[in-house]
Amino acid sequence: MLIESPPQLYRCIFRGAHWRLNTTGKVIYLTFDDGPIPQITPWVLDLLDRYGIKATFFCIGDNVRKYPAIYHEIIMRGHGVGNHTYHHLQGLKVATETYLQDVEMAARLIDSTLFRPPHGHIRLPQFYALRRKYQMVLWDVVTRDYSYLRTAHDVINNVKQYTRSGSIIVFHDSVKAGQRMQQSLPHAIDWLLEQGYTFGLVGDALNNDNVIG
Ligand SMILES: [Zn+2]
Repeated sequence: MLIESPPQLYRCIFRGAHWRLNTTGKVIYLTFDDGPIPQITPWVLDLLDRYGIKATFFCIGDNVRKYPAIYHEIIMRGHGVGNHTYHHLQGLKVATETYLQDVEMAARLIDSTLFRPPHGHIRLPQFYALRRKYQMVLWDVVTRDYSYLRTAHDVINNVKQYTRSGSIIVFHDSVKAGQRMQQSLPHAIDWLLEQGYTFGLVGDALNNDNVIG
């Protein structure tokens, strides 16, 4: 997915995936993909603690294997976790069997019923097979913090332009997003707080069946 907000057609094809969540108040869902890694994730955890807000981390299995202490720190501090495959596979590039095995490998390390496909790229058979076991969590605001073509200012503007109540917002605790994410995230959080948003956990919201589609 190469755009900041996914098109309606895409949302229709992947029926049952969660792009945005139903909320009674102004709640948004901050999510971080591709960690945990020592260079970035502890910085994110400290920042979130300073604001007293919670987020959901879609972890790469291989990173959890390498950095189990950071993974446990995420959970200890009250955040949510989700499965983001073991090797960050792109579903369109691999056979369904390979993809499903990779997700299961990650599941041995990541205790969660939430799944997010890397890049949002997934074949329909992969999607439907995983949907039996997992809540499929996509997004409606991708900040593009990972893009060399974007500045921190662009990232903040994406948050401002596309966020609505119930939005699922994607940042990355990755080396690639690195500085761009670190420069934009505090401003994005400040702006969201100024707008009156509170920060929810995707898992909690889905347990309460707050689903728009
Ligand atoms: Zn990813």
